[in-house]
Amino acid sequence: MSDTRGLGRRETGGDPAAPAISTTDHIGLAETHSAHNYNPLPVVIAEGEGAWVTDVEGRRYLDCLAGYSAINFGHRNPELLAAAHRQLERVTLTSRAFYNDQFAPFVTSLADMVGKDQVLPMNTGAEAVETAIKVARRWAYEVKGVPDGDATIIVAGGNFHGRTTTIISFSQDPDAYGGFGPYTPGFRVVPFGDADAVEDAVDSTAAAVLVEPVQGEAGVIVPEPDYLPRLREICDRERALLIADEVQSGLGRTGTVVACEHTGVEPDAYLFGKALGGGVLPVSAMVADEEVLGVIKPGQHGSTFGGNALAGAMGRTVVRMLREGPYLENARTLGEILRTRLKEFVGGGVLSARTIGLWAGIDVDPSLATGRDLCERLAERGVLVKDTHGSTIRLSPPLVVSEEDLNWGLDQLGAVLADLRAGAA
Ligand SMILES: *Cc1c(COP(=O)(O)O)cnc(C)c1O
Repeated sequence: MSDTRGLGRRETGGDPAAPAISTTDHIGLAETHSAHNYNPLPVVIAEGEGAWVTDVEGRRYLDCLAGYSAINFGHRNPELLAAAHRQLERVTLTSRAFYNDQFAPFVTSLADMVGKDQVLPMNTGAEAVETAIKVARRWAYEVKGVPDGDATIIVAGGNFHGRTTTIISFSQDPDAYGGFGPYTPGFRVVPFGDADAVEDAVDSTAAAVLVEPVQGEAGVIVPEPDYLPRLREICDRERALLIADEVQSGLGRTGTVVACEHTGVEPDAYLFGKALGGGVLPVSAMVADEEVLGVIKPGQHGSTFGGNALAGAMGRTVVRMLREGPYLENARTLGEILRTRLKEFVGGGVLSARTIGLWAGIDVDPSLATGRDLCERLAERGVLVKDTHGSTIRLSPPLVVSEEDLNWGLDQLGAVLADLRAGAA
């Protein structure tokens, strides 16, 4: 804290002439001049590398959130940075009015990785979901023969699919939907994990069943192993599309390319986002067979930035890294450590812990602390995580975290829980 001039250079993006701004000043300015649509932890990050970030005062933190899985490959992954630099020197954006030379390799490799024909690239996860909704409705009218305007999409309670007005229309989180009506009709919400409820909700108007194979934002909720297989059966029988929103669960997080792999279910469409951009820029996609995506003709859907050259360079690199790199294996072996060690905390301030791959949701005993409390105490000990829904926290370290660092991070969690128990006693 004494070398304020040195800190000043760090805080201001390396400009030695700029005045020093402390953590407190950064937060004060941010809260004054940005909308309060988030409630961040009081940490101002200046740099990141691998699983670690450094704040403006030089403090280091183990990043156990990894941008909600957008940073699966770690901060400034050298392979991704190299690909980004190469592409920045060539061309970044062409629009889809023309082809760019990253486009074909990107869509070909992504489709091939998950065994589908085609890719419709967009930018954010919400846009991939919006794409799926439009495609499913069009498919229902043109292929299934649902009367125009009658298509329904069955979704799961507790879902998180993004923030657009249509998507929040089928959210059950009052924070997400409250005060934003009128809402888009055409959705039926049934409890997550309940295939019977889906069966009851599906009728001749059903265009699709849209689910997260593992619910992320809800707190890493892993359904029973027969849930997705039963949804597959129902969709086959009723001729509805099964759409897997793998924006958070996909691309390595659970130890497989897609979380659907855990139950051997092949959905009709995958939605990807977050990690698909390598943590460099937003890249999302709907991936499906031609008989599904083929319902969209020129001019009927798109995005200025979707499939841009830099996005293509990142996306194809992510696909190659998943296929050739150690990431899936890391998620599995480190995930085993995460699972075993979190189990030890259950009963000691943690009510329950759910894990799949290198991904965990833990429910803190609310009599001991709120999720926010726990996050703040962990940040003081150098570990970054984020709470969701009051007393749940989610752990999703980058898949490049070392075993030693992961264990250290879990030690800090153990220490915070011990502090809380001591304080409560
Ligand atoms: C984050 C997320 C989205 C939305 O992605 P954005 O890029 O924030 O629009 C959609 N679906 C799931 C499952 C997500 O976790």
